[in-house]
Amino acid sequence: MFEDGRSKRVIFVSHCILNQNAKIDGCAHYRGSIREVADLILRSGCGVVQIECPEIMYLGLDRQVVPGLQRTIESEDTRVAELMEGEAGRTYCRDIASRVVHQMEQYVRSGFSVVGVLGVNGSPTCGVETGWRADGEVAEPGVLIRELQAACQQRGLSVPIRGIKAEDPEGAVRAAREVLGAAVPFQGGSAMKPAVLVTICILSLIALGHVLRLVFGVGVTVGALVIPMWASIPAVVGLAALAVWLWEEQKK
Ligand code: SF4
Repeated sequence: MFEDGRSKRVIFVSHCILNQNAKIDGCAHYRGSIREVADLILRSGCGVVQIECPEIMYLGLDRQVVPGLQRTIESEDTRVAELMEGEAGRTYCRDIASRVVHQMEQYVRSGFSVVGVLGVNGSPTCGVETGWRADGEVAEPGVLIRELQAACQQRGLSVPIRGIKAEDPEGAVRAAREVLGAAVPFQGGSAMKPAVLVTICILSLIALGHVLRLVFGVGVTVGALVIPMWASIPAVVGLAALAVWLWEEQKK
């Protein structure tokens, strides 16, 4: 069965890795997905399963914020941590973990590879290497990840679980790459489109030509028009700026 176009590889990710709109107020770092990680997963050919956000399911998008209360990101994380650590919060997480593990089992039984889980470090709920308690990051997993680890163990599933942070995209990509392992076809390559790469090369070569012209004092005439030497200065700056701009845009 399933001998069609699919990769038979699946990764599970915390909800807000693909949807930063789910974050606690003030904590979103991207407009939508954590782009670098989402790109990597898409290019890997792995299917991606977005785990429900336990905090939204239990507390809602506003996390039951208390109107008028003076709050900081730290105090909000602490308030949410206390709620998620309560009986009701843990029950939500246990239920979600149970549904996640049920899906994992379905894939594993049919010979698919569940390559791993990506959580969110520093979160009181989805933290893996670090969670959050009493106004600080602690070296303990969050509630959902604890429940997920327990459920995996109970059902004999061995699945790597790693945490990432949106504010550290390079570290996030490293962790995601480790989890994706052989599923990642590009080792350090960029997703730059060939046409853009060629354009950047052409712009750079023309800029280099102008630099050489300036260095060696090469005169240029177009018909009867003599191009002054100084004209190469704005040309170099403009072309180089355009090439850098294209390069930076492609990395986004
Ligand atoms: S870290 Fe987990 S609980 Fe927090 S917003 Fe992301 S998915 Fe929701």
